[in-house]
Amino acid sequence: MMAAPRLEIDLDKIGHNARILVERLGQRGIVVTGVTKAALGSAEIAATLLQAGVKGLGDSRIENIESMRIEQPSAPMALIRSPMLSQVQRVVKHANLSCNTEIEVVRRLSREAQQAGCNHGVLLMVELGDLREGIMPDDLLDFVRETLSLPNIDFRGIGTNLACRSGVAPDARNMAVLTELVEQIETSFDLHVEIVSGGNSANLQWALSGAQIGRINDLRLGEAILLGCETLHRQPLVGLHTDAITLMAEVIEVKLKPTLPTGQLAQNAFGETTVATDRGQVTQAILAIGRQDTDPDGLQPPAGINITASSSDHLILESDHNELTVGAEVVFQLNYSALVRAMTSPFVSRTYAGDVTR
Ligand SMILES: *Cc1c(COP(=O)(O)O)cnc(C)c1O
Repeated sequence: MMAAPRLEIDLDKIGHNARILVERLGQRGIVVTGVTKAALGSAEIAATLLQAGVKGLGDSRIENIESMRIEQPSAPMALIRSPMLSQVQRVVKHANLSCNTEIEVVRRLSREAQQAGCNHGVLLMVELGDLREGIMPDDLLDFVRETLSLPNIDFRGIGTNLACRSGVAPDARNMAVLTELVEQIETSFDLHVEIVSGGNSANLQWALSGAQIGRINDLRLGEAILLGCETLHRQPLVGLHTDAITLMAEVIEVKLKPTLPTGQLAQNAFGETTVATDRGQVTQAILAIGRQDTDPDGLQPPAGINITASSSDHLILESDHNELTVGAEVVFQLNYSALVRAMTSPFVSRTYAGDVTR
């Protein structure tokens, strides 16, 4: 018997997605940093992305980078979240590069790199409107000046991140600002800015639209590779697989039950109140998976099956067919939120299909 619940991960499909994006963006002079933060340090996924031609790997957690390091001693790996002061030693040891927005952190990276006898690369993130991480553009030149003065720190470039907190779309205007900032830095300090990282999967429409790319030469892509869609409108990308990763869960109860609860209604386990309409008796199935394992709102069941409710350990379905029997497995497509939570749940196992080494 296969373990359940489990993620079924098709490495050939992930490799295909990554390769197509590397090729399409390559034609526009942009390299891909493969973002692995939804993969919990999976060595298989890391190897697949590198084989598909990504320039390096990016992850938001140093723990994941440390895991991937074991089998990839020399692959470029970037920490794409600002390092915690409490982790700078690990960051210098295992990541080649980190994204930074606080000079205090860069100073500490410098000190740790001196002690470790190595250099650490720094990419400075700029705030361009989405209001998550980033140095305010007016403060950037001073920040670069001090970064350049710090021992054992290599200033590698600048980047921005849009469409994450506020949903600000990358466009000709904000991308042009990034290019202008690059030119200001080059003029002010007489140097060449090596990496200009324009953003994440939300940048794909802009990057592939034929727009002026300016100096942008890197995108950090996670969701587009793993799930095959862009992230502004969650539309599938032409030629990419949207089912590279699926989630299987097992049926543990099937019964004909009324659609209306019996008794006085108060809050449920999550502080929610139930609003039910009477649809008579329905066949209800329970799957052994819940909010501890994934984001039920991010699951897409097969046609003819509806998710009606979830609790920590149970997912409740209704179906108009009879294929749901105790022990049966149901396969779901996942969105990013459901994927990250399933990947990080100790209760969800993984099986890999496809061959990394092919
Ligand atoms: C998550 C993340 C990415 C990748 O985003 P996707 O939407 O998965 O492509 C890129 N950059 C940063 C800073 C991130 O946090």
